[in-house]
Amino acid sequence: MVGQKLMEPPLLDNSGPIPNNLRAMAEPKTGELMETIVSLCKRRGFIFQSSEVYGGLNGFWDYGPLGAELKRNIKESWWRTMTLMREDVVGLEASIIMHPRIWEASGHTSTFSDLMVDCLLTKKRFRADQVELQSGDAYFYTGATDAAAGKESQEPFSVLVGAGKHPEYARKVAREFYQQRGMQNPALQGERTEPLVNSARYNPENGGLLTEPRPFNLMLKTYVGPVESADNLSYLRPETAQAIFVQFRNVLEVSRQRVPFGICQIGKAFRNEINPRNFTFRSREFEQMELEFFIRPDQAVEAICGTVATPSGPGHPGEPQANWGWQIWHQYWVEERLRFYESIGLPRQTLVEYWQKPDELAHYARATVDVLYKFPFSKRDEKGELMGEELEGIAARSDFDLSQHQRFAGKSLAVFDEELKAAWAKLEAPKQAALRESYTQARLKYLLKVGETPEKAAQQAAADGEALGKGNYVPHVIEPSAGVDRLALALICNAYCEDQAPDDKGKLESRVVMRFHPRIAPIKVAVFPLLKNKPELVRKAKEVRDLLRPYMSVFYDEAGAIGRRYRRQDEAGTPFGLTIDFDTLGEKGPELKDTVTLRDRDTMKQERVKLADLVALLTAKIR
Ligand code: ATP
Repeated sequence: MVGQKLMEPPLLDNSGPIPNNLRAMAEPKTGELMETIVSLCKRRGFIFQSSEVYGGLNGFWDYGPLGAELKRNIKESWWRTMTLMREDVVGLEASIIMHPRIWEASGHTSTFSDLMVDCLLTKKRFRADQVELQSGDAYFYTGATDAAAGKESQEPFSVLVGAGKHPEYARKVAREFYQQRGMQNPALQGERTEPLVNSARYNPENGGLLTEPRPFNLMLKTYVGPVESADNLSYLRPETAQAIFVQFRNVLEVSRQRVPFGICQIGKAFRNEINPRNFTFRSREFEQMELEFFIRPDQAVEAICGTVATPSGPGHPGEPQANWGWQIWHQYWVEERLRFYESIGLPRQTLVEYWQKPDELAHYARATVDVLYKFPFSKRDEKGELMGEELEGIAARSDFDLSQHQRFAGKSLAVFDEELKAAWAKLEAPKQAALRESYTQARLKYLLKVGETPEKAAQQAAADGEALGKGNYVPHVIEPSAGVDRLALALICNAYCEDQAPDDKGKLESRVVMRFHPRIAPIKVAVFPLLKNKPELVRKAKEVRDLLRPYMSVFYDEAGAIGRRYRRQDEAGTPFGLTIDFDTLGEKGPELKDTVTLRDRDTMKQERVKLADLVALLTAKIR
C-alpha cells in the first residue's frame, strides 16, 4: 500500500468490528424494520416473490441477482468449513425424490405433522401452537333460525370479544357464520356468555371459533411414473438427512473413512407448511445444509479407551479425541456451528443457544440445541429482549436413524470396528459383561419403542449385544441441521444499517448500508472509472475488472457521480470499491502510476493501493 487519501471522511466511527444492527433491533417498531428490509430485498434484487406476475404463490420465493450470490456464498462457506477443511467429513448430493419406504422408516409418513386449526368463518388455517392466546368474553350460540326462509341450524358457534369491543360485534360475526350456512336473516339462538383467559380456540383476526386441532402431514406428494395410483405415490423430501442415512454404507465403502466420520449435504427440502410467514423464514420450499456425524456408541468408546470423556464445562472442547462420548461430541458440534456463524458475521450476542427441555425433545433425541437468531420479528421475553428464532438444530439422535433403515430395508447398516474387536479381547470378563449388558439394554429400549414384540426385541437386542463384542455396532449420530434461507435472512437483517455519509459536495446524506461480512457479501468489489467519458480511464478500469474477475465477484459501474456509485454499492453490501483516476494513469507523476483508490464500505476510508498488490490484498480480506 502506498500513500493515503481521504476523499470521503467517515463521519461516524464505524471502524470497529462489523456492528450488528442492534440499534434497530432494540426499537419497538420491528414490523416497520422488517417492512423496510423486505422492500429493500425486492428493490435491490435480493429476494422476489415467486410467480409474482401471477400474484405470487404463498410460501415460495425467488432469489434475484444479489440474493443468488449471497446464497451461493453461504453454501460455499458452509461446504468449505464442514468438509473441505476437515479430514473426517465427506459430501453427498442425493435425489430429491426417494423411495417412499424411506419416509415410513424415518417416521415422516406417520408423524411428520403439525396440529392445525381452521377458522370456521373464513377457513383461514393456523398452526395450533401458533394461535395467539386471547382473553375476553366468549359469546356462545346453540344455533340459528330463519323463519321466513323456513331454515334452521343447530350447529353451535361462538365468538370471543376482546376488551373494548361491543357485544354486538359477536352477534354480527355469528350471523355471518349462519349466513354462510344458507340463512339470509338468521336469528341467533341460546346466547350465553362466559369470560375466558388465554384461550387458543379463537381466530385472533375476527374472534371466530376455530376447529378442533387435527394433524396435517407436511410432506408434499407427487406421483412417480405415468399412473397416478397409490403404488406410485411419492414425496418431495422434507429434509435432506434421510438420503445420507440410506447412502451411509455406500459412502463408507468408497471414502476410506472410519467411525467417527461425517457425511454432509446441501439441497432443497419441501414442507407444506400450514402457515408460511415472516418473509422467507417459514417457506414451503427451502434449502438445508445438513451433516450427519457418525460416532461410536459409548460402550464401544469405553471398551477401547477404558473411560468415556464427558464435557468438563461449557465452551469448545478442543480437537476431537478417541475417548469422547456422545455428549462431548454434541457439545463440540454446537460450538463448531457457533464459530461458523461468527465467522460469517453474526456476532455471538445476536445468537441464542437454546437447549431443548426434556418434554420438547423428539422421542429419539438425547439432546438438541437450537441455534436461534434474534430476528426483528422474534417474540420478546418479559424483559423486552428478543428471544430469537431457529436457524439450526443440533441433535444427538442416538442410533435411531440407521437402526430404522436397517429394520425397514432388511439390510445391515452396522459397521465393523477393528479397534473395538481388538480392545474387547483384552477386557476382563466382568467388564465385557457389563458393557454387553448396557448395550443390550439400550438396543432393547429402542426396539420396544418402535413397536417390536417383547420376544423379538429381546432376541434382537441380545444378538446386538453379542455383535458388539465382535466389533460390530450401528453408529450413533450427531446432526447439525441448518437452513440456507433462514441464514440468508438472518444475514440480511443483521447487515441492514442506516447511517450518514457525505455526498460529492461534502453534504451529509443518509445512506442505507448492508454490512455483510466480506466472506458472504454478494459482490466483493466494485470498480469505477472516475469519469466515463475518458477512454483511458475506462480502458484501465476494465483492465482492473478483468484482473480481479477470476478471483471474486466484481461489479463494474461507470454511470453517475462517484458518490452515487458508492451509495448503490453500499446498499448492495459491496465491501470494497476501487476508483481508477488520473493518478492511476501516471498523470500526476510516476509514484502513483498503477495505483488505485481502495474504499472501505464501513469506515469509508480510502487508501492508495498498487495494482500489483490488489489480488493478494483483496483475496486475503474475502477468505
Ligand atoms: P421449525 O420448528 O421452525 O418448523 P424444525 O425444527 O422443524 O423448524 P428442522 O426439521 O430441524 O426444523 O430443520 C432444520 C432446519 O431447516 C431448521 O433449523 C431451519 O433452518 C430449516 N427449515 C425447516 N423448516 C423450514 C421452513 N419451512 N422454511 C425455511 N427453513 C426451514
